[in-house]
Amino acid sequence: MNTSTLIAPPALVRRAEQQDTQAIQALDSAHYMHPFTDHADLATRGSRVITHADNIYVWDSEGKKILDAMSGLWCVNAGYGRKELADAAYQQMMTLPFYNSFFQTTNVPAVRLAAKLTSLAPKVGDRSFTHVFFGSSGSESNDTNVRMARRYWDLLGQPQRKVIISRENAYHGSTMAGASLGGMSGMHAQGDLPIPNITHIGQPHYWENALPGESRADFGIRAARWLEEKILEIGPEKVAAFIGEPVQGAGGVIIPPETYWPEIQRIVDKYGILLIADEVICAFGRLGHWFAYEQFGIRPDLITFAKGVTSGYIPLGGVMVGNRVAEVLIGQGGEFNHGYTYSGHPVACAVALANLELMEREGLVDQVRTDTGPYLAQQFGALKDHPLVGEAETCGFVAGLVLVKDKEQRTMFDPDLSVGMICRRHCFGNGLVMRAVGDRMIIAPPLVMTRAQIDEMVGLIRQCLDATLAELR
Ligand code: PLP
Repeated sequence: MNTSTLIAPPALVRRAEQQDTQAIQALDSAHYMHPFTDHADLATRGSRVITHADNIYVWDSEGKKILDAMSGLWCVNAGYGRKELADAAYQQMMTLPFYNSFFQTTNVPAVRLAAKLTSLAPKVGDRSFTHVFFGSSGSESNDTNVRMARRYWDLLGQPQRKVIISRENAYHGSTMAGASLGGMSGMHAQGDLPIPNITHIGQPHYWENALPGESRADFGIRAARWLEEKILEIGPEKVAAFIGEPVQGAGGVIIPPETYWPEIQRIVDKYGILLIADEVICAFGRLGHWFAYEQFGIRPDLITFAKGVTSGYIPLGGVMVGNRVAEVLIGQGGEFNHGYTYSGHPVACAVALANLELMEREGLVDQVRTDTGPYLAQQFGALKDHPLVGEAETCGFVAGLVLVKDKEQRTMFDPDLSVGMICRRHCFGNGLVMRAVGDRMIIAPPLVMTRAQIDEMVGLIRQCLDATLAELR
């Protein structure tokens, strides 16, 4: 990569690093309500205070350098410290820091970004992406999807088509619709979710759900047909859409068998229902393509995006609107009574444009598809020889391994042992961010990661697996 674009941590940040960690942790625990955090833990153990970052590394307030194999939260695709993204934000703030896009108004970065995104999304068959609707996050954008899908069917004179089918263990965000579309039982248990007319089928998780002796290909078809069974159970005339992440991320990097998505496409086409691909994680090079549907041979009608579009430098999300929906919503819909103050925020859009230009110039998407992605597959896949690892799979720059008690018998550890959390603790101790989802350990490194850095990361993972094994014995 071009190291001249990296910036040294600013003096301000270096001063923050020297602040008293305990004082910050006390303030944090007293006043800051964190997302997805048990605050009893914060009060006893204190947060890890991250102060600055560069390339693929972050530093904490104790000066510890940590390899961030999760790209923040699956988003820092271009790596940390990219001066041109900060410059783009500064320039845009000085020119036009905000204006809204309501009521026949627009701004140049939003227009340019919408055009750029549609140009990056290839046409498949009779489906193309003609329009983009902007929000600020993945969750918001999935709420937009629900409204768009229902409005689409209303306009076509089929208002009874309300049901959206999703999958267990999916993650589609934290708003009421996002959490309902998601299939996380822990989220549904809080706040009476899902909301009506959202239902779930099983996930295509070969390791957990395949029958003894069943091939990946056969399992893929069987798992996809759970959708057809559900459509028939509900009544096809009541189903508006199916939503899925091409590769489930937060659920534990569940990579579906190759047969899965083509069969899903066949089924949605047969019943005429909309297909929504939630590519909040999978787009912008994460799987080696600008959009993941290219890889899986599907033709979504709507695509949710966020995260990597700005490499996480500033919040931005949205929906890629396919021609099938656009022709109805825009062509014959009149006003769509929906929008956010920050839809098409000029600063966020300017940063996204700079980020996409940077990724194009450095060839990061091609690099993941043709070079570092296959290299990661080889090096990460080799972890399968470790006594704790039952399976180690990658898809582009996402990867997951499952920690098992007995590889031959495919037996898992007692969940009460929280083996994943033990491993995660060793990761932090050894200067590595890796996420635990139950006993699956997952990564999604910055796309700028080099082959040498892949070796460094895989070496650290092996050390952490050894330390976990030693603790369990
Ligand atoms: N959809 C997917 C697939 C995600 O992974 C996420 C977040 O991780 C979301 C939606 C929600 O995005 P946000 O946190 O920006 O609201």
